[in-house]
Amino acid sequence: MSGTNPDPILCIDGTWRHASDGGTRDIINPADGSVVAVVDEASADDGRAAIAAGRGAFDESSWRDTTVAERSALLDRIADLLLRDRDEIARAETLDTGKTLRESHIDIDDVVSVFRYYAKLVAVESDRLVDVGDPTIVSRVVHEPVGVCVLIAPWNYPLLQIVWKIAPALAAGCTMVAKPSEVTPLSTIALIRLAEEAGVPPGVLNLIQGSGAVIGDALTDSPDVDMISFTGGASTGAHIAAVAAPHVTRVALELGGKNPHIVFADADRDAALDAVITGVFLHSGQVCSSGTRLIIEESIADEFVAALVPRAQAIRFGDGLDDASETGPLVSQSHRDKVEGYVALGISEGATLVTGGERPADDEFAKGSYFPPTILDNCDRSMRVVQEETFGPILTVERFASEREAIELGNDTSYGLAAGVRTADTARAERVARALRHGTVWINDFGVYTAAAEWGGFGKSGNGRELGPTGLAEYQEAKHIWTNTAPKEVGWFTA
Ligand code: NAD
Repeated sequence: MSGTNPDPILCIDGTWRHASDGGTRDIINPADGSVVAVVDEASADDGRAAIAAGRGAFDESSWRDTTVAERSALLDRIADLLLRDRDEIARAETLDTGKTLRESHIDIDDVVSVFRYYAKLVAVESDRLVDVGDPTIVSRVVHEPVGVCVLIAPWNYPLLQIVWKIAPALAAGCTMVAKPSEVTPLSTIALIRLAEEAGVPPGVLNLIQGSGAVIGDALTDSPDVDMISFTGGASTGAHIAAVAAPHVTRVALELGGKNPHIVFADADRDAALDAVITGVFLHSGQVCSSGTRLIIEESIADEFVAALVPRAQAIRFGDGLDDASETGPLVSQSHRDKVEGYVALGISEGATLVTGGERPADDEFAKGSYFPPTILDNCDRSMRVVQEETFGPILTVERFASEREAIELGNDTSYGLAAGVRTADTARAERVARALRHGTVWINDFGVYTAAAEWGGFGKSGNGRELGPTGLAEYQEAKHIWTNTAPKEVGWFTA
């Protein structure tokens, strides 16, 4: 397949085209290193053309004047088409990312629920009347689309992350340039084709595929962009914020996490074991909200960690297309190198390797970027492996003696994306949940979310909120319209 590039995949102003400089990229299946597709790799000029298309569609077309009912129906049609092509898109997602087909199907169902949620939410939007205490004044707050949006997504949940942006941006009436991660573009390409089929007008939803290093600044350093929504690593996010600052562009950042999972001695043991394992090893730990820091009450710690080990060792990793696989490979060989490096670092910092830690030797895994579930015990918060996002299947274990210490440890991170607390004491659960400085806190659960509730981070996990009503508001300008129905002289100046 390498070397052939049959279908153009850049979509600019409703036209599907190849990259202006002929650039292409091989898309690699992390399960076996094979090339699953060759796609166009945009140049900076293509990026600028996509922004110009978005600007033109926002300023000159009738798109921003569409009614909320029209946009709501459009979102529902996209959801219907996603369900029609569910299997095909799930397969593409698995080939791209390595995640299991089961996970890819769940992602698509989640994505459908996000389109449905915003279809409903925008349909009931109405102006807000403000009582200014004078019956002759009509004061209204109306919501208008923010304008041209650049939407940049990572590789771990390619379709999900881009849809958390596209669905509310379309609902709000914005135009946009969507940029998936260059390593996982296939599901986004399929989505943009479906959006076109659903009736999204030319120029409203443009697709650019390419390396952030090559086209990133062209997309973010532009006076024609009104809003940037970025999901990805913290250093990339900080760079984008700095590049966009001179234009005072609105920037929403959804960044990494280093998420504590706090387990008290009175928690339901089996449910806690199951949740800790799933919370950290799902998608081989390549989840921004992965429960990578187990913070456990010392009275149960030794027994609990011992019970985790056989569960971790029993996880069947393998090709995501194989129904027997419970989790897939890491996204790339270079990412596996990074994860492996964190295990070595943790050990050198004094952690005890309890299980995993070495890439599998078996031939069946030789071509893929597999890494086993790994547990590092006897960790403490001063260690880099405890503080930095490893983004792989590594669980670190820290112990606490009191509720206060558990909270202190849970908050001792520069991130603040998500946290879990497990206890049978509901009052304590509530106290701890309120004390944790994280955007989502799960009590006796982990990793779940709903389209109707906000998602986002404290601290270096970002400054934006996706999903829920706030996820729509990010793509809107609130405008105050004050109407004086009985104008008369104010008489401030006497002349
Ligand atoms: P990354 O920062 O390397 O890349 C993310 C996206 O940014 C990619 O599309 C990339 O091409 C683009 N990019 C890179 N440099 C750019 C630049 N200079 N200008 C503009 N765009 C640029 O991140 P990644 O490795 O793809 O994703 C993993 C990270 O994403 C992790 O830190 C993870 O925690 C985070 N993440 C966060 C959430 C969340 O909801 N907060 C969700 C998923 C992933």
